[in-house]
Amino acid sequence: MQTFRYIILGAGPSGLALAHTLRDRGVPLSEVLVLEKEITAGGLCRSEIVDGAPLDIGGGHFLDVKHKDVLDLLFRFMPESEWNRHERVSKIHLRAQMVDHPLEANLWQFNTETQVDYLESIAQAGCVRGTAAPESFAAWIRWKFGERIADDYMLPYNRKIWSMDPDLLGTYWLHKLPNVSFRETLHSCIEGKPYGSLPAHGVFLYPKEHGYGEVWRRMAEALVDSIQLGVDIQSFDLATRTINGTWQADHVFSSVPWHAWLNWTTLPDAVRDDINALCNVGIDIDYIPETLDSQAHWIYEPDEELQHHRKLLRSNFSPGARGYWTESNHQRSQAADGWRHTNPYAYPVNTIDKPARVSRILEWATTQNITGFGRWGTWDHMNSDIAVKNAIALGIATAVNTR
Ligand SMILES: Cc1cc2nc3c(=O)[nH]c(=O)nc-3n(C[C@H](O)[C@H](O)[C@H](O)COP(=O)(O)OP(=O)(O)OC[C@H]3O[C@@H](n4cnc5c(N)ncnc54)[C@H](O)[C@@H]3O)c2cc1C
Repeated sequence: MQTFRYIILGAGPSGLALAHTLRDRGVPLSEVLVLEKEITAGGLCRSEIVDGAPLDIGGGHFLDVKHKDVLDLLFRFMPESEWNRHERVSKIHLRAQMVDHPLEANLWQFNTETQVDYLESIAQAGCVRGTAAPESFAAWIRWKFGERIADDYMLPYNRKIWSMDPDLLGTYWLHKLPNVSFRETLHSCIEGKPYGSLPAHGVFLYPKEHGYGEVWRRMAEALVDSIQLGVDIQSFDLATRTINGTWQADHVFSSVPWHAWLNWTTLPDAVRDDINALCNVGIDIDYIPETLDSQAHWIYEPDEELQHHRKLLRSNFSPGARGYWTESNHQRSQAADGWRHTNPYAYPVNTIDKPARVSRILEWATTQNITGFGRWGTWDHMNSDIAVKNAIALGIATAVNTR
């Protein structure tokens, strides 16, 4: 039996950032163990070489530049000189035209007829007329964008990503959408330029070589003997926090999907029911060798005739690369005829009852000296910079409390 002060489950960005922060704050690495089921660390942020160039197997991954503490940590392993800085070019493919994202800030790029259709749509939307925001997802989308934009773009795109009835989704997370006022939309159409707040990743970093996965691979390598890859967890003894009868910890940090816990141990009925009710979306990544004639880094595809919902044009962000890859909800995918990687856990789904269920699971976990964190520990649709930021905060608080 090997004993540790802390065992961290999962070596994605969250687990790796937590392990390094604990070390930075004075916890000896000999008291920390990271256990990861895959043979490569990095979670959804891993990359592979496909057709001679890096491909991000969890989907298109770009590093937002907003958080200095996050950049400081990542630059220790992959210095700033190894990253390229890009100004985001993301397009929406709609009515046989390509316009910049977000749609409401860029209607001016459409032909006149479509501009009029979509301006009318927003002018008649509930949020512009001052009616109260509805509770259900589909009604909220109509309230926010009006009928035309909802039917042409927002609802088909969301049906494609989630492959479920939109009304099972909550609206509590929609504040994350770029918020462009009707007045800003009018300005943009009259003046022929975008108006309003920029979406996330307005400016982003992407490695010059190796793909987004490289920084996480190096972070894992630096943990030396304090990380074990390719571990198949089979059992967890709740009374002693012992894993596979081999590794025991005072405290466990879990960044793995809660569903895994159902196979490891017997949980109280209420906790098991809450975990069973959590939903996730799987995403297939398919590589296509053709290099597209476009400046876009990525293109959103709301057309429901197409299997995928997004194209990632790696030739525009990974130097020397050709081709592109697509992202499709696994449930919509047909059999692949080229390179494919399936991510069964890609998006946590924001169902209406999710916040209450997650907070009950986390409360119970706390009583067992287990902390849920990261994308799957909190079932929250966060980007990797936020996953790292949260893990740094958790590491600092843990080191202070146990000093
Ligand atoms: C399509 C897509 C696009 C994205 N684009 C961006 C982007 O542009 N920029 C950005 O910053 N973020 C992006 N993200 C989000 C980013 O992937 C996540 O924020 C980040 O990966 C979260 O890190 P994590 O460590 O919490 O979770 P994960 O990366 O999911 O890591 C969890 C780890 O737990 C491991 N694990 C699972 N089960 C077990 C088990 N039973 N035993 C042991 N280990 C286990 C997994 O193998 C994995 O290594 C995107 C995500 C998706 C799906």
